[in-house]
Amino acid sequence: MLILDYKEFDYGITCIDSCYQRAGLACCYLLKADGQFALIDTGTARTAPMIMKLLEKRSIAKEQVKYIIPTHVHLDHAGGAGQLMAQLPEAELVIHPYGARHMIDPAKLQAGAAAVYGEAAFNQHFDTLLAIPAARVIEMEDGMQLNLNGRVLSLVDTPGHARHHLTVWDEQSRGLFTGDVFGNGYPEMHTDKGRYLMPVTSPVQFDPPVWHQSIDKLLSFNPERVFLTHYGLLENPQQQAKQLHRDLDAYVNIALALGSENRYEKLLEQISRYHMENIQRHGCNMTAQEIKRLIFSDIELCAQGLEIWLQRQEQD
Ligand SMILES: [Zn+2]
Repeated sequence: MLILDYKEFDYGITCIDSCYQRAGLACCYLLKADGQFALIDTGTARTAPMIMKLLEKRSIAKEQVKYIIPTHVHLDHAGGAGQLMAQLPEAELVIHPYGARHMIDPAKLQAGAAAVYGEAAFNQHFDTLLAIPAARVIEMEDGMQLNLNGRVLSLVDTPGHARHHLTVWDEQSRGLFTGDVFGNGYPEMHTDKGRYLMPVTSPVQFDPPVWHQSIDKLLSFNPERVFLTHYGLLENPQQQAKQLHRDLDAYVNIALALGSENRYEKLLEQISRYHMENIQRHGCNMTAQEIKRLIFSDIELCAQGLEIWLQRQEQD
């Protein structure tokens, strides 16, 4: 039985749960402009049938989808792009130039992801990546604009989480589709202070200084809202950005203070403790066990990415 879990926002934006790992963890967005559609992020290959079902349910012809725009080529964002492109004949894939070759020939990406997640988890969550013909791939440039039947989508180069990361600015909603650059926000941890956000430093291209710059670059659009892939709508992002900067600084300070012995384990423990304390301060009244269940896989990605970042610093 295929699950289809989606929510309509204002401005012709539909938020579709990717059903990656659990409900409320990852989503993608369908944008409407007078009979044409764009999809921002795709979820995994296992999400593609859900998106196709939604189109069918809303009587959207396959030819009406004009753009598929993964924010970056990590598989919870781009893993379903090949399957969707194969079924949506008019769609063009819009992707960061550093990610394009991985969409055209996904063998390396597939092997890299299997190494990060492990073979068993990879097979469970991701399925096979399908190659996309180069002729249907548009490599973005910073500031490039896409015209979706009069709705202008601007593409912004936003490295830091990954070099191949872009963000989409949608003038109509005054909203940014930020992928992973504006952190991961857990809907379960919403308090009167707003959403709890966590920047996730996934392997292998974490780059703190440019991530700081990307956050500031996004704020220069004066966004009124942010559409997070993890997860959903975040209003008034200006305030939250300060904490993202503080978190990135804290990660770097924690990582650089560690000796070489059992470094990965120490990263796990200290990044976990850092967030557990902040989540409590945020006023979240879930039990520590519940919070750990929600954040543990992201903490693991943080520790893995920071370990690789430290190794890179040592080589330079
Ligand atoms: Zn992600």
